[in-house]
Amino acid sequence: MKLFEFQAKEIFRKYNIPTSTSSYLIKNAEEVNAILDKLQLPCVLKAQVLSGGRGKAGGVKIAKTKEEISKLVEQIFNLVINGEKTCAILIEDYVNIEKELYTSITIDTTTNNVTILASSLGGIDIEELTLKHPEMIFKMNVDPFVGIKTYQARLLARKLGLSGRLVNVYAHILTSMYRILRDYDAELVEINPLALTKSGELVAVDAKIVLNEPAKYRHQETFEQLEKEQEALGITRNLKEIKLKELGCSAYIDFEKEGIALISDGAGIGMYAYDTICQLGGSVASYCELGLANTPEKISRVLEIVSSDPKTRVLLINWFGGANIMDEMCKGIIQFREKNNSIPIIVRVAGTNFDKAHEMLKNANIFVTEDINEAVNKVISFSGGIS
Ligand code: GDP
Ligand code: MN
Repeated sequence: MKLFEFQAKEIFRKYNIPTSTSSYLIKNAEEVNAILDKLQLPCVLKAQVLSGGRGKAGGVKIAKTKEEISKLVEQIFNLVINGEKTCAILIEDYVNIEKELYTSITIDTTTNNVTILASSLGGIDIEELTLKHPEMIFKMNVDPFVGIKTYQARLLARKLGLSGRLVNVYAHILTSMYRILRDYDAELVEINPLALTKSGELVAVDAKIVLNEPAKYRHQETFEQLEKEQEALGITRNLKEIKLKELGCSAYIDFEKEGIALISDGAGIGMYAYDTICQLGGSVASYCELGLANTPEKISRVLEIVSSDPKTRVLLINWFGGANIMDEMCKGIIQFREKNNSIPIIVRVAGTNFDKAHEMLKNANIFVTEDINEAVNKVISFSGGIS
């Protein structure tokens, strides 16, 4: 779950990471009138959207006069960034920036470590600059059983060109970011830019936090509060995705087009089927990976939810039984078929107890094969997906 900048900054403040001293959130253009007298000039107006590249898209503006504020507020509320409408504007004091630094903490699943990336080339061009100057990006692994040691943080501060008291200030910011990552089960905590101001302070001018959805049960109240704040701004969550995840599905992707709903019990065979369908010119409407939703009752529910989507024309069930027992899981398909007799279902089932599963499905007049390519060819003829 991505947080808005204003939400991430609220968390930053709890951990004493320096941000702008005054900060107001307005949900519509009229609300600016009530705070106009309180605002210091110049101030910065920032579109609250969940997608990146906001500054480049014109979502961050500096206003020098009150008239300008009202004009820019209108303008930013009309802005659509990567298909996302501005749902609120954060108005903050202007920070006098000397230099823009970059720092992020994330989880590196290949080394099973927490990874810190830091650079003195922060700002909106960080991606391109670090491609051109990879030597300017510093990477540090943190052993999660040990945490960040102060000397590591101080070392990184020096690499960023900081000296004197700023070394300790940076160390405090970095260890606080790490505490946020741990305390909230975040996947990413990023400050870009971390501004070195003309008066020699460090200020988090931007804030990005992404929370790990599967960890929600550990932070029920916090997540719900953050979701409520987002819903109050008109962010609607994908209800199908929420229901499927609650059932235990490990992945659900809505491709937002008509066609085949692909339901697999593993990522590898799922991707193979997806690629083959695309190569043959078929259209995948959605992809669902069962994960822990592997009991007959849960499978029947999953199929109901997936086929309730009007974009779903046909179901392609693609399972390989290792630990999963195929005849047991196929009972879920039969249960679903008893409730819904209209949507075409193509099944590819191989592995543990596939023979019993095949017999069961054939008796229920459901097409089944052990061959994934045959299943894909068959499903394409049903979805009318060849262009
Ligand atoms: P992003 O494009 O979504 O990453 O938005 P940011 O909040 O990072 O702002 C983009 C850029 O606008 C920053 O890299 C800064 O260069 C600039 N900017 C934002 N706020 C301020 C500010 O208070 N003072 C100054 N001087 N520049 C700012
Ligand atoms: Mn930024």
